[in-house]
Amino acid sequence: MDTSSSDDVIRWFEEAAKSAGKVQMQTLKMILEMNHEAEYLQKWLKDIDVHNMNAEQLQSLFASKVPLASHADLEPYIQRIADGETSPLLTKQPITTLSLSSGTTEGRQKYVPFTSHSSKTTLQIFKLAAAYRSRVYPTSEGGKILEFIYGNKPLKTKGGLSAGTATTHYFASQEFKLKQQQTKSFTCSPQEVIFSGDYKQSTYCHFLLGLFYAPQVEFITSTFVYCIVQALTLFQDCWKDLCNDLFNGTLSPSITIPCIRISVLDLIKPNKCLATWVSSQCEELKESNWYGLIPKLWPNAKYVYSIMTGSMQPYVEKLRHYTGDRLPLVCAEYGSTESWIGLNMDPCSSPENVRFTVVPTFSYFEFIPLHLIMYHKDVVVNGGGDDDYLEGDPVPLSKVKMGQQYEIVLTTFTGLYRYRLGDVVEVTGFYKGTPKLNFLYRRKLILTLNIDKNTEKDLQLAVHKGSQPLIKSRAELVDFTSHAKTTNQPGHYVVYWEIKGEVKDHVLAQCCKEIDAAFVDYGYVVSRKNNSIGPLELCIVERGTFKKIMEHFIDNGATMSQFKTPRCITDKALLKILNLGAIKRFRTADYM
Ligand code: AMP
Repeated sequence: MDTSSSDDVIRWFEEAAKSAGKVQMQTLKMILEMNHEAEYLQKWLKDIDVHNMNAEQLQSLFASKVPLASHADLEPYIQRIADGETSPLLTKQPITTLSLSSGTTEGRQKYVPFTSHSSKTTLQIFKLAAAYRSRVYPTSEGGKILEFIYGNKPLKTKGGLSAGTATTHYFASQEFKLKQQQTKSFTCSPQEVIFSGDYKQSTYCHFLLGLFYAPQVEFITSTFVYCIVQALTLFQDCWKDLCNDLFNGTLSPSITIPCIRISVLDLIKPNKCLATWVSSQCEELKESNWYGLIPKLWPNAKYVYSIMTGSMQPYVEKLRHYTGDRLPLVCAEYGSTESWIGLNMDPCSSPENVRFTVVPTFSYFEFIPLHLIMYHKDVVVNGGGDDDYLEGDPVPLSKVKMGQQYEIVLTTFTGLYRYRLGDVVEVTGFYKGTPKLNFLYRRKLILTLNIDKNTEKDLQLAVHKGSQPLIKSRAELVDFTSHAKTTNQPGHYVVYWEIKGEVKDHVLAQCCKEIDAAFVDYGYVVSRKNNSIGPLELCIVERGTFKKIMEHFIDNGATMSQFKTPRCITDKALLKILNLGAIKRFRTADYM
């Protein structure tokens, strides 16, 4: 895609969307022609002349010859790459960089190949999304963006390859700088702040510079909305220091990393008037529990832009509180470390209603239809997958049907072939020839003891229902996770909650009962009735426990930018953090 203006980039996308089926076939042909010699593809497509086949033939041949794969199937190849093997294993060109997924789905970070194509598509989707946003919310040229973004120091693998999170690679890439130039909006913070490696020091400086440039800030953003909510919590503890620094043009001694100090002090100057104004706004905001903080301090900000769907949904209400329901919340795009997938073409849609339009040039997409299993009386049927679905045969993008749920399968330019991403989406419509998706949940089962099967979404819904009594107590659920405990028989679910505010024990006991009753999965309901699963336990942890969980991930190589609170915990170190933080435990005595 070679486009300069917003109109060009939209025109390019519209053309691609119009003939999405064809574009997909060509995309697959390009990937296969490029990487046909790679060892993995040779295993399946040996003796096949991909160059002399037409795109349509190639599409059906590919599906018949190359099997669906999980990360575990590709891991031996990725490991050899990480160990320094340079022969063509997954791609013809050697892979020199690896990405680390956030590791919050399956409890461990996974290596995924990263190439210049990954950065290019990131730039493309950002430019495209910015073009659609600017139609509705035009921003001033040369304006600033307050971005809560964090890169970490890439590790070196045994073979000497650089391995960091996809966001880290992107923030360090030429494409990131290009995005700022081409979208004509610049992040407030210099690279030193983004890459400090200490999220607290970075966040402090993001705020300091964000306030220093406050009148020019056009919008506020982060990759996942969790980061904005987390940052605003930190702000409540450090706003006085920030005002002091703004007043004097200094930098708090809590910022100790020399390169950050130099780069920030180089930018800020004393601004007594601004500091006094910020301070008086904060005094007022404190009285209203920081309601409307964002528009108050950044009066020219037009919107907040971030991923707010899927596992980020529980933070949306908190963000609404900080925007005082006055600023539009614009949902950011749908993608993964493996590939970008879909674009939010309608920046006005709320986080609850956002749809992602598949960009057919990014990867070759297939869709595994998922059919809900119907249970009959007390017979529990076991499905084809991990959860309550029977799987159909994967279909190409041109064959998806409206209203149908699918798991996404990716074939990427970076060497993943028919790779099951594990995300479940629903096709809700089409834009020209390309589907619009509603992100539903990550398929990986999280809570299961025997025949019970609960996904992240099931837990999210149960916690949402169970937390309603907190509203009356004017308390707030800060974060939550769960664990399927089997040390005593029968096993049972433990739900961990961190709460802000005072809540009476009888109210928490009621919450516990309601969460237990809110799991509607048939296997769970039956098992609870016959007591093969014990009563649910609600464990209240002290304030700051979930921050410790996040810090544990960051200490182990994750970045704040891609962090998602794991919704089910099996890792011993994490369980220890939770159990050390436990202050109260409730158990539903009897099944209702
Ligand atoms: P990671 O590769 O670890 O950064 O995580 C990627 C995963 O985050 C995807 O597979 C999705 O499950 C989730 N994700 C990414 N973008 C979105 C989005 N816009 N809405 C909901 N979930 C998303």
